[in-house]
Amino acid sequence: MAKVIVIGGGPAGCTAAYTLARRGHDVELFEAADSLGGRTRQLRRDGFNLGTGALFLMGGIYPRTMALLKEMGHYRDLVPWTGVTELADNDDQRYRVRFDSLLSFFKLPVLSPEDRWRLVKTGLKLFFGGGAKNPFAGDELAAFDEGENLEQWSREALGDQNYEYVMRPIMDFLYAVPLSWLSTPFPKAIIQQAHKLALSVPPEGIGQVSDWFVERLPKEKIHLSCPVEGVERDGRGYRVKAGGENFAADGLVVATEAFVAAKILGELITQDTNARLMATPYTEYAHVAVAYEQNPWPDYPADMVLPVGIGETRDVGSLVLHGRRSPNSVPKGGEVVGVYFNTPPLAKMSDEDIKREAVSAVHQAFGEAPRPSFVHLFRYEKGLTIAKPGHYAMLDAVHGALPPGICLAGDYFSQAGVEAAVYSGERAALNVMKAL
Ligand SMILES: Cc1cc2nc3c(=O)[nH]c(=O)nc-3n(C[C@H](O)[C@H](O)[C@H](O)COP(=O)(O)OP(=O)(O)OC[C@H]3O[C@@H](n4cnc5c(N)ncnc54)[C@H](O)[C@@H]3O)c2cc1C
Repeated sequence: MAKVIVIGGGPAGCTAAYTLARRGHDVELFEAADSLGGRTRQLRRDGFNLGTGALFLMGGIYPRTMALLKEMGHYRDLVPWTGVTELADNDDQRYRVRFDSLLSFFKLPVLSPEDRWRLVKTGLKLFFGGGAKNPFAGDELAAFDEGENLEQWSREALGDQNYEYVMRPIMDFLYAVPLSWLSTPFPKAIIQQAHKLALSVPPEGIGQVSDWFVERLPKEKIHLSCPVEGVERDGRGYRVKAGGENFAADGLVVATEAFVAAKILGELITQDTNARLMATPYTEYAHVAVAYEQNPWPDYPADMVLPVGIGETRDVGSLVLHGRRSPNSVPKGGEVVGVYFNTPPLAKMSDEDIKREAVSAVHQAFGEAPRPSFVHLFRYEKGLTIAKPGHYAMLDAVHGALPPGICLAGDYFSQAGVEAAVYSGERAALNVMKAL
């Protein structure tokens, strides 16, 4: 039985810990924060259970997450969500769609028969054509990265109207950056599998996925509020420095953000590997929870609003009524609106600007309301990795250049998302076992 230390308790690290423990290895997990989940973590405040980051799982598009939840007996605990959505036009005209159904976008009255034909034609071409089959495997994505960006491709393949009413609102919600910043292999692979899409949330929020992965690990093997400071070689194994102590291990899974992994591994990795990890881009990100003890809109006919500002840079990408998405996130009779900002305006906005604009956007989206009980800002200096053209190949090369018995995991090897983290965590654990 080998001793493996997992560094980082987000979904990638917790999946790695689960995979290793299930195969009988002695696992110890170190997490810098005071709870697990990373960017899927839950935060309790005044009776609300706020998601600090992630919102939902995506059904058949997340095959490893779903398979492992089944294996752990938690798949049936997931609460389905249809994501009834209003697209809000420049002149506040509203169009109803469902976020769990691309077909519902197809029926938008603003699309002409020609626009719809282009959607069908492109969908069929992707479905029957080549492209990455696994959107979470960096090596597959790298093989189909031809340097084109998502705006360029969408406008050409789908036309401007589909770009503005279908691609942009969806991607603003999911990634919060201009589509010209993103490469195409990941979104193309997801569109290819759109028929498998279903949305769901664990009863206590997405952070619960990480808790489930390590629920059988002995408590003394999980070190919270214990950031790892560095790693050194120790004979054929490694010594991990954390909390003023040294912990010995035969192997390691480093499941932090890419730049943290580079720092922790220090001189154990080559300069080239260090440079690749440090070059992994993370965009700024912000969202605001606007909480009400008394729900001002109990009968609102949709779960969220996605602004559609044709040709405009919109500050807000989405507004979500979280009580609809995840009923246990609000106290009885309450509601909390998540206001998710796009990245470009953030550089010029103070925390106060963001909170003020969030409250005003809430009123515009759902109607006037009394003063909220509280307004909580989540602002990340480094929020999401953005897979620009060339991203996947740059990072995939890192796997082959690591010291023996050390593997990296994290969503950054694909495009951000829980499945990307889970897939990479499982793969890292299996590779460490192979190496040992
Ligand atoms: C606002 C927002 C909304 C999102 N919405 C969705 C969504 O709806 N669906 C979806 O699938 N994904 C979503 N995501 C993405 C998802 O949250 C990430 O893809 C996922 O959390 C990545 O997991 P990870 O384990 O790779 O990294 P992380 O979750 O970042 O975990 C890394 C962990 O490493 C820890 N760490 C860092 N340094 C150290 C150290 N020195 N020692 C020990 N531990 C350390 C961190 O504290 C953290 O817990 C969203 C993200 C954000 C920010």
